[in-house]
Formats: sequence, structure tokens, C-alpha cells
Amino acid sequence: MKRSCLTLILLFMVIVSGANTSITDSTIPEQIKEYHFDTDSAINEYLSVLTAEEKEKSDRYFEGGYWLILIEFLVVLIIAWVFLSLGLSKWIKRIVFKFKNVNVRNLFYTIFYFLFAYLLSFPLNIYVSFFREHRYGLSNMNFGEWLTEDLIGLVLLLIAGSLLIMALYIAIRKVQKNWWIWGSGVLTLFLILTIFIAPVFISPLFNEYKPLEEGKIKDEILSMARANGVPAKNVYQFDASKQSNRISANVSGIGSTIRISLNDNLLNQCSLEEIKAVMAHELGHYVLNHIYEMIIYFSIIIFIGFAFINWVFKKAIAKYGKKWKIDGLSDIGGLPLFILLFSFYFFIATPVTNNIIRSNEVEADYFGLNTAQEPDGFASVAMKLSTYRKINPGKFEEFIFFDHPSGKSRVTVAMQWKSEHLE
Ligand SMILES: [Zn+2]
Repeated sequence: MKRSCLTLILLFMVIVSGANTSITDSTIPEQIKEYHFDTDSAINEYLSVLTAEEKEKSDRYFEGGYWLILIEFLVVLIIAWVFLSLGLSKWIKRIVFKFKNVNVRNLFYTIFYFLFAYLLSFPLNIYVSFFREHRYGLSNMNFGEWLTEDLIGLVLLLIAGSLLIMALYIAIRKVQKNWWIWGSGVLTLFLILTIFIAPVFISPLFNEYKPLEEGKIKDEILSMARANGVPAKNVYQFDASKQSNRISANVSGIGSTIRISLNDNLLNQCSLEEIKAVMAHELGHYVLNHIYEMIIYFSIIIFIGFAFINWVFKKAIAKYGKKWKIDGLSDIGGLPLFILLFSFYFFIATPVTNNIIRSNEVEADYFGLNTAQEPDGFASVAMKLSTYRKINPGKFEEFIFFDHPSGKSRVTVAMQWKSEHLE
């Protein structure tokens, strides 16, 4: 686990270096100065909206998230240890091997794996998504509501996850040597299918979606949508306030299920200028085909990940296969190791995945500014989002840990846009 130690040190350095950064990257074109708009002081004015206390709180919440990436990986490691070294895997295998059909065995082994993994990670899960969220005032759910949603998630995982893994093991048995090429194809297809059905079958399990309420807000949003070729029937609102006070909107689905959804917190807590700025950003994701771009990027990441698993798994089995009673890749008893390697790969790839997502977010930001022409709306929303996203991180810290631009980056871009479009 030398690499984990290294990551820890890296994390620590980033957190320390993030503490003292200042605004430097602003160049004001000469003609702008004639309009008496000082970009730097406009940026500072926005950044000072957050009180020192609020900033400290949001920094603490966000930086805690860096450690959680590591801790969540360590929990997967503990789960693999319980299964392989403590013998839970052997015990489950004895039960599922009463079935004759190999696919049925694999299906039941996987269901057992997910159930035990859920139980073993429950203390961390309850801390991260219930107690921690309440401590920072970010959740509106009582324990019963939280647990209900969490169990719905578990049922979805049991159904979809075990079918996916059964299909993966079919690929492993049928093509053997090149299983990882076919396996990454299976996972990518599964990803596409999940994105396709999510807005229709998964999201409605947690929230009620309906067409936008009539009024000025709807007219303005749909006018921007029409100007960019997005059909009006693809814009929805949903009741996220039952879960939290966070403002958000998103683009989901593919092809016939693609849609933009904005939540009721955005509608209730924000001005028309702010809502327009957010929705123009979401239109950017839609118009720039970011979902399709993501699928391509992530299929490549999965492909490399499976090649990595194929390489390490064989080495690990050659050394510990007898001790762990794993015969080879096609043995379902190797699933805890398979998932551990997959988690390790994604843990190490965190900066890569964050950069892919963030680069699309930056594109959508520019699209949004140009479309809504509401730099102040955009800057003030960026400040509202900064109640739970560190406002002013170091450059390196933002590069590694941020999947969206920081508040400071967004306010800077918005004010520079404003300074160059003042009339
Ligand atoms: Zn976005």
C-alpha cells in the first residue's frame, strides 16, 4: 500500500497549499477601463459575499471530501479482505454452488457480495450521506426518508449490478484471453443503457418530474431553448427540496429520453437572471452533446481499466490464488478482487475523470454566458454554489479534486466577460 501513502502525502500537500492563494489572473483591456468597470474589484466584491465563517465552513466540507475519496477506497479494500482473507467468499461459494447453472451461481454470489458490502460500508455510508450532510445543514431528510432512498438505491444495485456482473462473467468464460476487450464493451453498453433509461425509470423513483410551471421564468427558459434548437418538451422541473436546499439543474438521458431538468430550489431561491444563467449553462451541455462525449471518454477509461485488471488479477492469482481459493478469472470467487482492482484504478484516475468532467463544465459555462448574457446572474449563482464547494482553491488543488470550476474561477470568467461586453 505504498501508493496509498503517497496519495495521502499528496492530499495533505494540496490541502495546505490551497490555504493561501490570491486572485492574480486578471488582465483588463484598455478600452474597458474607460467604462470605469474594474474587473478585479468586481470579482472581489462577489467573493466577499461569503462571510469568513461561511467560507471556513464550505472549505472544511469540501476538503473533507478529498479524504473521503481515500477512505471510500479503503473500505473497498476492507471488504475484499473480509471476503478473501477471512473466508466469507468461501462460505458464500458453498451456498451458491448448490445451484447447477453457472450463471445462477454467479448471480447469487454477486447478490451476496453486494449485500455484505452494503452492510460493511454502512457506518461510513450513514456518516457521509446522513450525519455529515446534516452537520453542514445540507440535508432536509429525516432518518426514515434517508434510509428509504438508500434502500431503493441498494435494490437498484442488486438488480442491475448483479445482471451486469453475470454478463461480464459470461464474456470472461466465452472469450477467455481477450475477455477484457469484450468486457469493457459490455460495461460501456450497460452505461449507455443506464443513461438512456435513467430519466424515465430511475430518477422518478426519487423525485417527481413535471413540465415547467407557466410564467415568465418558463417563457424566458423556453425562448433560450428554442434559440438553440432544444425542444420545449425536453425541459422539466423536479422537487429536490425534499432532499436538500441545494440549487441544481442537469441534462440527462440519450436520444429520445434526453432532457434538461431544473430543481425547485433553483426556482425558489434564485432571481430570473440567476435562473437564466444556470439554464443557459445546461443548454450548453445539451447543445454541445456532452453526454455523448462523456460516453466516449468513459468507454476509453473503462477499456484501459479492464486491461489493468487483466494484468494485475493474473499476477495476484498466481501468488495468492491457492490461499484465497480462486481458480482463475472466470471463478466468481474472484469478484471481490476484481471490484477492488476496479476501485483502485478509479481512485488513481480521479484527477483524470475530474478533468474530463470539468473541461465540459467550463465549455458549458462559456456557452451559458454567451447565451443568457447574464454575467452577474452567473457570478451570484457561483457564489450560492460555493456554500458547499471550496470557493478559492489552489490551482493544483482545483486540477486534482474539482469536477466543476471553483466559485472564484467562475466569478472571474463572468466578470471578464462582463468587462468586455459593457455597452
Ligand atoms: Zn454543468
